[in-house]
Amino acid sequence: MLPFRIGYGYDTHRLVEGRRLVIGGVEIPHEKGLLGHSDADLLLHCICDALLGALNLRDIGFHFPDTDPRYKGVDSQILLRDTYQLVRARGYVIGNIDSTVIAERPKLNPHIPRMQEIIASILETTPENISIKATTHEKTDAAGREESMVAQAVVLIVSESFGK
Ligand code: MG
Repeated sequence: MLPFRIGYGYDTHRLVEGRRLVIGGVEIPHEKGLLGHSDADLLLHCICDALLGALNLRDIGFHFPDTDPRYKGVDSQILLRDTYQLVRARGYVIGNIDSTVIAERPKLNPHIPRMQEIIASILETTPENISIKATTHEKTDAAGREESMVAQAVVLIVSESFGK
């Protein structure tokens, strides 16, 4: 078993009126929200995909299909918790995560410390291991026109026996 494995995740959701905006487990006041079968928390989704990728366990849609009524409106923190159980079951813990959310508006920076706390607590690590960066697409393409948001993450998972 390798002591370290890396994973990469990507997600995008459409921005529409009449939906809550939930990113990194934090509900952010905004006139639009992300459309999806779940709460459409794209940051948590791409972290799930990165963790699954690190373990070569397919993707979030494979484990939590959007055709399954159990996941309708589900809090994505539950999906992240379930994904983390797969990591633990294989003898790994979180090394660190680096992520970026691409959103033209609203400003995400004030909410990032709370997102780091939420994600770190689910993944049994500390906020210093959870990097979240925010950027815009400079008014170009769908994200730049506020039609969608995008998130990407890389993770390093570490064998729990490493260094012992
Ligand atoms: Mg998604």
